[in-house]
Amino acid sequence: MPITRLLIANRGEIALRIHRAAHEMGIETVAVHSTADADAMHVRLADHAICIGPPPAAESYLNTAAIIAAAEVSGADAIHPGYGFMSENAQFAEIVEAHGIVWIGPKPEHIRTMGDKVEAKRTAGALGLPLVPGSDGAISDPVEAARIADEIGYPVIIKAASGGGGRGMKVCNRPEELDTLMKQAGNEAKAAFGDDTVYLEKYLGNPRHIEFQVFGDGNGNAIHLGERDCSLQRRHQKVLEEAPSPVITAEERDRMGGIVAKAMADMGYRGAGTIEFLWENGQFYFIEMNTRLQVEHPVTEMITGVDLVREQIRVAEGRPLSVTQDEIEFKGHAIECRINAEDPWTFAPSPGLVTAYHAAGGMHVRVDSGLYAGYRIPPYYDSMIAKLIVYGRSREGCIMRLRRALEEMVVDGVKTSIPLHQQLLREGDVLNGDYSIKWLEEWLATREA
Ligand code: ADP
Repeated sequence: MPITRLLIANRGEIALRIHRAAHEMGIETVAVHSTADADAMHVRLADHAICIGPPPAAESYLNTAAIIAAAEVSGADAIHPGYGFMSENAQFAEIVEAHGIVWIGPKPEHIRTMGDKVEAKRTAGALGLPLVPGSDGAISDPVEAARIADEIGYPVIIKAASGGGGRGMKVCNRPEELDTLMKQAGNEAKAAFGDDTVYLEKYLGNPRHIEFQVFGDGNGNAIHLGERDCSLQRRHQKVLEEAPSPVITAEERDRMGGIVAKAMADMGYRGAGTIEFLWENGQFYFIEMNTRLQVEHPVTEMITGVDLVREQIRVAEGRPLSVTQDEIEFKGHAIECRINAEDPWTFAPSPGLVTAYHAAGGMHVRVDSGLYAGYRIPPYYDSMIAKLIVYGRSREGCIMRLRRALEEMVVDGVKTSIPLHQQLLREGDVLNGDYSIKWLEEWLATREA
């Protein structure tokens, strides 16, 4: 069924991203916003805007009743959740569908399965994806836990089944610490996610984070759009992402991509998804699947030319994907810098008034951002204010262009992570693509010393 009016249940750059795809398809947009976002760019650009509550996200962007009511009064026939907020809330997806509104996302049962990391791992294993060695599901008995940890070998990582955003994980180096850390992890998970279920995994020493973009039509057809390397992380949060990964060969991409696409086809997966792996010594180890659009999706768009949001909308309308696997070609290199309103070295948030703003431009430069001069960055939400995505025919050319683009970016009035990116792009290891998920924190520590 064709979508004519789309409610975007999000804010910031991703709300704009979705608005742009919708308008290019001739679809009207409805923005929702908290009182803190009344002047936000996503509100200004949308065809209709509805205030859904006060600044705290729990009362606005996470307020199911307010969002559904906004869809009904505005006559929206579909909802796109973006990332974060409602995007991986299976119950919300069910409520949307129960109201006869098209949910632009995966089937609720797939969101639910993949949202529980224990279930996700079991499902991934059954679909033939390689797993990190670990406990077979949830674990609570300390004797059993000690036995499994011995078997897989220390260090091990204790993870919360309901964890997310890098939270709810503890690394355990010695058997005598296991019991205490398991209890701590369980208590923290209970406090953060309302669920104390934990499981054990081998802690990999120096892996890279490599994830595959997948797409399904919900009818048993699925494709992959290659990988992204997101190894540059601080506190398990991605800072800079690139595609393709500097360490993956075309053969490896085809092989692993084939495996993940087949898994999604077998599952009957619908919409965009990301299958995350750790990669060490040439081996992939599944860690989780995100059943939504990712922040870093533009790097994939740059090297494949496929508009992922457009595909999401098409599939939600019940249409097939517009490309087949054979038509997807990986060309050149793309890198994304996440620009946050924060001190580049202490990472303290820096909300406030943006006094001047100039976005970088020129060939193969894309800036996804809701910033404008005179905009006041509210303190209530994520600190990411812009994404700078740059393409080059080679990785080297991409980096040269990215350095040039970072020089051009002007965001005055608040502190941003632009200086961090500028320094990173002068580091030999980054230039050589020679880094693991540990690299950035180690580099930051030596800078401080
Ligand atoms: P979340 O859902 O909280 O993002 P993930 O399972 O995706 O959790 O893990 C987040 C990050 O934690 C990974 O990108 C990696 O940096 C680190 N990590 C997770 N599992 C392991 C592991 N078994 N060994 C080493 N590092 C890990």
